[in-house]
Amino acid sequence: MKVPFLDLRAQHAPIRGEIDAAIREVLDDTAFVLGPGVSRFEEAFAPYAGRKHCIGVNSGTSALHLALLAAGVNPGDEVLTTPHTWISTSWAVSYCGARPIYADVDPRTGNLDPKAAEAALTARTRALLPVDLYGNPADLEAFEDLSRRKGIPLVEDAAQSHGARLRGRPAGAFGALACFSFYPGKNLGAAGEGGAVVTDDNGMAARIRRLRDHAQESRHRHAEIGFNYRMEGIQGAVLAVKLRHLDGWNAARRTAAGRYRELLAGIRGVVLPEPTPGAEPVWHLYVVRVQDRDRVLARLKEAGIGAAVHYPHPVHLQPAYASLGHRSGAFPGAESFAAECLSLPMFAEITAEQQEAVAAALRDAVRP
Ligand SMILES: *Cc1c(COP(=O)(O)O)cnc(C)c1O
Repeated sequence: MKVPFLDLRAQHAPIRGEIDAAIREVLDDTAFVLGPGVSRFEEAFAPYAGRKHCIGVNSGTSALHLALLAAGVNPGDEVLTTPHTWISTSWAVSYCGARPIYADVDPRTGNLDPKAAEAALTARTRALLPVDLYGNPADLEAFEDLSRRKGIPLVEDAAQSHGARLRGRPAGAFGALACFSFYPGKNLGAAGEGGAVVTDDNGMAARIRRLRDHAQESRHRHAEIGFNYRMEGIQGAVLAVKLRHLDGWNAARRTAAGRYRELLAGIRGVVLPEPTPGAEPVWHLYVVRVQDRDRVLARLKEAGIGAAVHYPHPVHLQPAYASLGHRSGAFPGAESFAAECLSLPMFAEITAEQQEAVAAALRDAVRP
């Protein structure tokens, strides 16, 4: 049996009518950029993330950039973040003219370790930027405490954790600002690119709203240097439809994660993912750890299993960040995660039979 890594066709088939109608409405209105489709989505997503304001933008990367600007990150500043994430988390710091500084990850979850983060702070650190990796919230209460004690704003990269919770509070509700991506493969995905910043701060929300639209205070008046980071009308309309289904999809992912836990529990040499204490993850990715990962990955591919790796190279060792001067061994937790992590097929519609096929193939693949 072949099992795909992700099956967006299976997600769209049952809601095709709703999506078609939403897109048709945008075409009829010709409200292609921002407009009512985007506003309606923003109004629904802000409370979903436990916030007063949601500002829709054209990608998660743009959301992070604007959130850091609003948090007051300027050229020459430092932002403390994780070396084990999608590269955008660090890009946003660089776009502000600031320097990403790193601390190691918790070896159980792969999430930024708040104690290591505290030890890495300097007098120039202007923001804390943990990631809810794989849909599992970081230790965000510890980061809130650190943020308060040090007076450094917390920005949550929730690009993988739409709908996750930590002690009852939704992902996106922690710190000064939080950022989401609606890249198609995320738990809540657009029909193209998309992202959002959420916050409770009226001033920050107003500034981000201006910055995404060429920093216009009023038409043709530009308060500062702005960006074209606007969300498209079609994306807002599609996202508003899909948001209504997100809790159902996340529940199905939880069921699938529970099934993997049972199917994989007995396999020697496979380390299963561990949620943060108090967290309800949304399993954006189901990531196990294995020795000799690339060989296991190759064997799974031969068996028709769509496995993948998130992420094979830690950010501090990327050529783009060579100028930061990190050597291998700098963050051993992140480096061993990068060497051993293996993402198994995970999507709301995955069937028990598909998961059994994945488990059987993995059992064979890890045999020496
Ligand atoms: C996807 C992702 C982003 C960037 O989102 P885009 O919409 O692709 O720009 C940022 N951070 C993390 C952790 C992500 O997974």
